[in-house]
Amino acid sequence: MTATISATREAVKVQSVVKIFQQQENQIKALDDVSLEIRDNEFFTLLGPSGCGKTTLLRLIAGFESPSQGEILLFGQRIEQLAPFQRPVNTVFQHYALFPHMNVYDNIAFGLKMLGKDATEIDKVVKEVLSLVKMSDYAKRKPYQLSGGQQQRIAFARALAPHPKVLLLDEPLSALDLKLRQAMRSELKSLQRETGITFIFVTHDQEEALTMSDRIGVMSEGKLQQVGSPLDIYERPLNRFVADFIGKTNFLEARLEASHGEVLEAVLANGLKLHFKQSLAKSKGERISLALRPEKIQLKALNESVSGNLLKARILDRTYLGTDTSYQVDLGQGIFLEVRDQNALSGNARFALGDEVLLDIAPQAFRLLQD
Ligand code: ATP
Repeated sequence: MTATISATREAVKVQSVVKIFQQQENQIKALDDVSLEIRDNEFFTLLGPSGCGKTTLLRLIAGFESPSQGEILLFGQRIEQLAPFQRPVNTVFQHYALFPHMNVYDNIAFGLKMLGKDATEIDKVVKEVLSLVKMSDYAKRKPYQLSGGQQQRIAFARALAPHPKVLLLDEPLSALDLKLRQAMRSELKSLQRETGITFIFVTHDQEEALTMSDRIGVMSEGKLQQVGSPLDIYERPLNRFVADFIGKTNFLEARLEASHGEVLEAVLANGLKLHFKQSLAKSKGERISLALRPEKIQLKALNESVSGNLLKARILDRTYLGTDTSYQVDLGQGIFLEVRDQNALSGNARFALGDEVLLDIAPQAFRLLQD
C-alpha cells in the first residue's frame, strides 16, 4: 500500500510532540513539546549541540520512532499509521552504508527493484540521479573505488531515486574532511534547488546551517529555541542560548533606566550608560540582558569622532586571526568585551596592549534578550 498525499504549503507539521525514552528506571525526555512547520521545497536545518534531540525528531518524521505525545503531519496527513517505507520520505545517514559488493548503478537500482519498478524505468531513474550528482561516469565502479565525497554523492543519488517528497539528512557531511565538507555544502544546496524536494538537514555545525539553509530551527535540551532565516538567527537571537551557540557574542547585564521614544537607556554595573533600540517590552528599573556581536563594535583612537554609544576602554589582550584581530577590552569594574577589528592592508593590528581606546557602538547593534 502506498499513501496518497495531497499537496499543502507545509511539508511537515510537528504538533506539540513529546518523546520520552525509558532507560531502566530513568525517563529521558528527548523532545519536550516541540511544534514546528517545515515548508514544501525548503532547505530546513535542525541545529543544536549533541544530545539536544535533533536525530530523535528526524527519526519520528521518518517513522523509525513514534511520539509519546503530539502528532506529525506530512503534507496535511496524519502519518502514525504509515510504516517508514510507506512515507514519502527518505533518509541519508552520516555513514553512507553503500552495499560494498554492488557497483554504483546496482546500489541505486536496488531500492527501485524492491519497490517493484520495471527495468526501463529503473534505468531511466538511475541515469537521471547519477547525472544530478555529477557521477554519470562512475556507474560501473564499486564503492571502494570511490573517494569519501564520491561515495556520499552516490548515497544522495540513492536516496533521491524513489523521488521522495522529503529528504532527511542526518549529519551527512560530518564524515568528510573540512575542505570537502565545505565544497559539498553548495552542491547539496543546488541539489535541493534542482529537485525542489524539501530537505531537513541535521547538524551541530553552525557554519553549515548558516550557509545552506532557507530556515534554521535551533534546539537545546529537547526544546526548539528559535526558528528563522540564517539572518534572523544571527542578527536577532531571541535568547542567550541562541546568541551564544551561533557565532561569538558579548553579554551585558544592565538595568533599564529611561526611554526616549524608540531608544532606551540602560545602565551597566559600572555606572556606564548605553542607548539601544527596543525590541521587547520591558519596564523601567527591570534587569535586562543585552547581546552584542564583537564585529558590531568599532574601535577608535581617543582623537577620533564617535557617532553611536561612546565607551572608554583599555586593550587587555589581542589575537591576530588573519582577516581580523580579536581584542579583549576592559571597561572597568569587571566588565570586559571582545571586539573584532578588520585588519587593514598592512595586516598590522591598529592597537597595542594597554592602549586607551574608544568604543563606538550603534544603538541598533544591541539585542535585548528574552532570557
Ligand atoms: P547528536 O548530535 O549527538 O546525534 P542529537 O541532538 O541528535 O545528538 P538525539 O540522538 O536525538 O540527540 O538524543 C536526544 C536525547 O535522547 C539524548 O539524551 C539521548 O541520549 C537520548 N536518546 C536517544 N535515543 C535514545 C534511545 N533509543 N534510548 C534512550 N535514550 C535515547
